[in-house]
Amino acid sequence: MNTHPTDVLKSSVPTDEASVSAQTDVPQLSIVIPMYNEEPNVDELCTRLIKVLETSKRTFEIVAVNDGSRDGTLAKLLQWQKQYPRIFRILDFNGNFGHHNALWAGFEHVRGEWVISMDADLQNPPEEIPKLLEKIDEGYDYVGSWRLGKRRDAKWRDWASKLDNKFRGKITDIRMTDQGCMLRAYKRSIVDAIVHCGDYTAFIPALAYKFAARYTEIGMQHAPRFQGKTKYGLYYLLRTHFDLMTGFSLVPLQVFTLFGFALAGGSFLLVLYMLGRRLFIGPEAEGVFTLFAILFFMVSVAIVGIGLIGEYVGRTYQIAQGRPRYILKKLYDTQAASTKTKAA
Ligand code: UDP
Ligand code: MG
Repeated sequence: MNTHPTDVLKSSVPTDEASVSAQTDVPQLSIVIPMYNEEPNVDELCTRLIKVLETSKRTFEIVAVNDGSRDGTLAKLLQWQKQYPRIFRILDFNGNFGHHNALWAGFEHVRGEWVISMDADLQNPPEEIPKLLEKIDEGYDYVGSWRLGKRRDAKWRDWASKLDNKFRGKITDIRMTDQGCMLRAYKRSIVDAIVHCGDYTAFIPALAYKFAARYTEIGMQHAPRFQGKTKYGLYYLLRTHFDLMTGFSLVPLQVFTLFGFALAGGSFLLVLYMLGRRLFIGPEAEGVFTLFAILFFMVSVAIVGIGLIGEYVGRTYQIAQGRPRYILKKLYDTQAASTKTKAA
């Protein structure tokens, strides 16, 4: 009998036991969705996502990560799990640990052969997933994406993101058009490699790029957020940007060192000139402010350098501390003997 993926996964008694065990053990797809205060989006997201995945005729699970939401996100997810116990696995954090840590946790809990990451706010329309599946079938092990057409975010976000993509392209060897588009597909081996990395603040799309043997990317439609507000403020974006720069490149430090050498050379020439002037023309009282200007410039450069070193040292310190990147309050998994509570 030809059973449909969700027919088998629904709570109703399945017709084909063998295919059920195949479904529950290793689904073909694991969809990982971090969620932080996404209550108004959960129903629309799950409805559309399940519809798309059903038509894909592949077995799947949805790994939803509740990143310390203070609204009814978890309650909504539990309702969906009740309806589709074999599809939904829910990780519930005991606080807010951030988008990438939530994604990381999802990656640590997937069972599928392929993993698809996406946002919960429907900016990545689920209807675009078949494009990823086509590329998977062509033999790529990591399929990235860029946002087609106009970005549906605040104008400054659009500029910041373009600048970020350009800058990253220059100082790292990561060649992605748009690192901010999270609708991506990863072969399981890549996901496993990622979660075995010791990086504390890791930028997952870039890590996957490092580990992929065959990378490709495709244009994806980009919709405005369905409901609610973005969780990415300027500060969070800057942090993510620094994660990417320091996690994947030493170029900022190297450029700084080169600049330091150039400045030191220039200053040395200036000192020679001042000495010569003092010997042959006499001491100069004027031009003090020029010297001050030069001094201020050098001091500010030194401060930038200290900050830059701090970025790297800070990250090394975080790794040395070895603190968990998230704390899992509860794993709602109807496949396991009971739902588990554990610390990551
Ligand atoms: N998110 C999260 N934890 C956070 C912030 C965001 O899990 O601390 C999730 C959020 O629920 C969404 C995705 O990460 O599914 C992207 O967040 P958002 O849409 O706010 O970012 P933007 O699209 O504005 O970059
Ligand atoms: Mg969004």
